[in-house]
Amino acid sequence: MDMFKEMRTFGHEQVLFSHDASCGYYGIIAIHDTTLGPALGGTRVWPYPSTEAALEDVLRLSRGMTYKSAVAGLNLGGGKAVIIADPKRPDRESLFRAHGRFVETLGGRYITAEDVGTSPTDMEFVKRETKHVAGLLNLSGDPSPVTSYGVYMGMKASAKRRWGKDSLAGKTVAVQGAGKVAYYLMKHLKDEGAKIVTTDIDAEKVKRAVEELGATAVTPDEIYDVKADIFAPCALGAIINDDTLKRLKVEIIAGGANNQLAEQRHGTQLEKQGILYAPDYVINGGGVVNVFGELQGWTMERAKRKAQEIYDTILRVYAIADREKIPSFEAADHLAEERIRSVAALKRMWIAGDRT
Ligand code: NAD
Repeated sequence: MDMFKEMRTFGHEQVLFSHDASCGYYGIIAIHDTTLGPALGGTRVWPYPSTEAALEDVLRLSRGMTYKSAVAGLNLGGGKAVIIADPKRPDRESLFRAHGRFVETLGGRYITAEDVGTSPTDMEFVKRETKHVAGLLNLSGDPSPVTSYGVYMGMKASAKRRWGKDSLAGKTVAVQGAGKVAYYLMKHLKDEGAKIVTTDIDAEKVKRAVEELGATAVTPDEIYDVKADIFAPCALGAIINDDTLKRLKVEIIAGGANNQLAEQRHGTQLEKQGILYAPDYVINGGGVVNVFGELQGWTMERAKRKAQEIYDTILRVYAIADREKIPSFEAADHLAEERIRSVAALKRMWIAGDRT
């Protein structure tokens, strides 16, 4: 892989490769764009089969964070870290303290948090070496309630766009997954009087949704064939693909999962099939709002108020899609790029405190 070619193509500012032989730490931190603020994004621990695979993932994920924070209206750039290791490795302290020391070398240009393979306890070890870390124990905690609230807002905005009013009462919503984001989302849906169909590979979680929220259960594969008004993917990525596009019988897709489109062309195909798609990184931005809130010392209520803006942002995305005659996932990118461009273009007049 030609590193500089990759960085040039996707606009990355900086990539840091780090190694600590004492504990066998191999990590990569990618900073995509810091126009809006320090690069924020979680640390993923994964047993990547090669350095190239790890690099490809960290470059893609860090870029995604730039776009997610930009459309959420946050003063944050995009970054991400990967540690090449077994996520179940027992020597957490040495691994994450090593990581924290490398995060510290960036002087606050990159702020880390939890991601796949890491927990708030791991972030406490990072915290011993750097203050540039969020998602700590007893602080903002589990971001899922705020994420779900944002998804719910984005779903209502999509309903408004499709049916002229944003009520979900009486609508059938097929929710894929019954984990954290799905559970809080289903609570909102139940309170509004929507009919819920759900699935999960974990039978206990499905049972909870059926008993507590009155959901109807289907098998994991049947969820794509459910005749519903809305499909809410809240489990896996790449679930909008050649196979599922033939099966989905819904008018809206609006859910919390990351990277829902297997490939960009599937977003274009959704448009052709007349299915309204709420772009994933816009509708699930409540999670990053929650982390930003922790850095700012916000209460959960304040974070939820910020996540409420996802309603208007989703409507803006649909308006851009109309105006520019492009699919909604492309319109979301345009909205993010436009915000970064306009902040970058602000007049840099000298103000007291600037260095001479
Ligand atoms: P979670 O682990 O609590 O829930 C995911 C659920 O999906 C689990 O219950 C799992 O058993 C289920 N699942 C896995 N494979 C499945 C399959 N084939 N069919 C049906 N169910 C399956 O995770 P979560 O925090 O709720 O996150 C869900 C999605 O939302 C992920 O894609 C995540 O990246 C995204 N997301 C989460 C947040 C957040 O705040 N938690 C923020 C932004 C995006």
